[in-house]
Amino acid sequence: MVKQQYVKFIVGTGNLWYYLGMENFFSSATPQKEENTPLVNQYDDLKNNYQRIFVEAAESIRAAVNKFKPENPCTLCTIKDCSIEKKDVFTNYPRGCTYKDWQAQIITFLTGEYQQKLKNTYKMIMDKKNEYSCNCCGDCCRLAVSEYSYEQLKQRAARGDKFSQDFVSVFVPYKTEEEAKAVNPEYFDLLNSLVEDEKTYYYYCPKLKGSLCSNYENRPNICKDFPHNPLKLLPSRCSYNTWRAEISKQALLLKAKTDIIEFYKNKLG
Ligand code: SF4
Ligand code: SF4
Ligand code: SF4
Repeated sequence: MVKQQYVKFIVGTGNLWYYLGMENFFSSATPQKEENTPLVNQYDDLKNNYQRIFVEAAESIRAAVNKFKPENPCTLCTIKDCSIEKKDVFTNYPRGCTYKDWQAQIITFLTGEYQQKLKNTYKMIMDKKNEYSCNCCGDCCRLAVSEYSYEQLKQRAARGDKFSQDFVSVFVPYKTEEEAKAVNPEYFDLLNSLVEDEKTYYYYCPKLKGSLCSNYENRPNICKDFPHNPLKLLPSRCSYNTWRAEISKQALLLKAKTDIIEFYKNKLG
């Protein structure tokens, strides 16, 4: 039930994950054999793959939007004194320019049909999680991390943030980082190495008794839905690591496309 922080290079907090055009990715992806690979190396592999995946995502989106790029409308253009040479997607075109209409079409496409496909892919990834089940190791209850302090989380909860409400309904902060690290040094070090110099706060749930939840029937949604993000950092004993390994490349590509769409929206919106 840890925060969806999955570090800077991968996932921004609270993002929805969208994606389109994964066919090429699926056909080129090699099955992962991660069972015996140390956790930190698995994440290093993901990080190292991200640049390639991001380029693949950018090229895929560029190809999609170029399909409806107008063909040389300048020959019929009545706008005078236009000196634009590079007819790029991000060029600043004047009002009335056919390429400006194209840019508007791009936004409609990316935020409509394209985004819906990304949502479908996200659903497919999360549905696949149902093929796996929790092995009740309790590690996610023993060590949760947030970029927010306990006070900040309570403030967010008071403002209506559902995740924060669930979080503070079960988790309490460790007194020291040393105490948190002692619980699961490997997971702690992994989280710390990925957040780099950002401050993070560590939590545990006092409702965990041994490895079992003492309030299982009433546990909040953040417990029921864990892991709620396909790029979530997971403890090494978590049985959902198999799911995460299976879908991680798809999820990275989805994340890359989501970020690229945001870039298009910011530049053209
Ligand atoms: S305004 Fe647009 S369509 Fe007209 S000449 Fe310039 S780039 Fe071409
Ligand atoms: S309420 Fe239960 S499932 Fe949720 S964090 Fe606490 S012990 Fe774990
Ligand atoms: S298997 Fe995963 S979800 Fe289940 S208790 Fe362990 S860490 Fe949590």
